[in-house]
Amino acid sequence: MKFNTKTIHGGQHNVDPAYGSVMPPIYQTSTYSQTTPGGHKGFEYSRSANPTRTALENSLASIENGKFGLAFGSGLAAIDAVMKLFKPGDEIISTNDLYGGSYRLFTKIFEGLGIKFHFIGMQDAEKIEEYITDKTKLIWVETPTNPMMNIIDIEAVSKLAKKHKVLLAVDNTFATPYLQQPLDLGADIVMHSATKYLGGHSDVVMGSLVVKDKDLADKLYFVQNASGAVCGPQDSFLVLRGIKTLHIRMQRHCENGEKVARFLKDHPKVDKVYWPGFEDHPNHDIAKKQMSGYGGMISFTTAENTLESAVKVVEKLKVFTLAESLGGVESLAGHPASMTHASIPKEEREKTGVVDSLIRLSVGIEDDEDLIEDLKQALG
Ligand SMILES: *Cc1c(COP(=O)(O)O)cnc(C)c1O
Repeated sequence: MKFNTKTIHGGQHNVDPAYGSVMPPIYQTSTYSQTTPGGHKGFEYSRSANPTRTALENSLASIENGKFGLAFGSGLAAIDAVMKLFKPGDEIISTNDLYGGSYRLFTKIFEGLGIKFHFIGMQDAEKIEEYITDKTKLIWVETPTNPMMNIIDIEAVSKLAKKHKVLLAVDNTFATPYLQQPLDLGADIVMHSATKYLGGHSDVVMGSLVVKDKDLADKLYFVQNASGAVCGPQDSFLVLRGIKTLHIRMQRHCENGEKVARFLKDHPKVDKVYWPGFEDHPNHDIAKKQMSGYGGMISFTTAENTLESAVKVVEKLKVFTLAESLGGVESLAGHPASMTHASIPKEEREKTGVVDSLIRLSVGIEDDEDLIEDLKQALG
């Protein structure tokens, strides 16, 4: 099955066996009747499994070319489940330019429980090896990175990870499986904030993991059930519905993203534009190799290079909404330093380029001329 068919049919029954409904029913139930103790049809309690969530988990596994999907109450709950595979004394190497909430979870929760993190730039994959010891258990990669749009060579990192018998997890939230399939490039775990492009309509908070290996799936399933950060059947239905249009939404996000990125690059009130589709982007060759398009996420700095100038632009936008999050059909603008990345200390974030004048855009699927007009008036 090709990707554009998998989004609609992957891992699904064409009709529900109970009444032939074409769409999977929302099984809004916590429990299931048993004919005799233990005599059930595979579902006993909805923390352990729920048929609507299972339908979604099968879809997720299919679109990521994996075997096992797990859905959680949020992207961070999914990451939290991965971190619970480790013990005090274990070490994890992570991208230094990553989602602020992931950084907060790693440093404020799991460092306190005795796990050691190394946050490093991974654009040069060779550098990672210096940090690998016999205690290293996981490499955590986010690519494209948020919000600086750096690209990390998943295949190169996976070779290192395999050489040292370390797990590799990739946060694929920005690219989605439409643009990049980390398991095919050698990753062991692919993670999503399904809140973003998979859901695609900014109406649900959810996270997911997909793996190929049965043993790893069993361990993660144990955490999912034991810790219990699962998503409900209604939300599972919404994300399943979102996935059915992922390929056409992403196609438009990419087209609009390119037009907006090129417009910004030529604008006198704009200084730097970060978008991996530009040929002079420092990691463009890797992006070209491992992604089938460049997406709708763009960051840029104002020419004045001040906090005030960036705030003025985001306040003036009318079609773009000033809000956290990304990946919905509607265009959003954010100011990372004071919003998504406020939990990262100023010195830390400025090292990676998250300066006060940086603006991040999630380019939606509206008419591109309206988006460009809006940016024109806000910058002017
Ligand atoms: C939003 C986001 C997360 C966290 O997901 P939630 O669903 O908000 O918990 C993790 N990684 C990236 C790249 C994100 O954009």
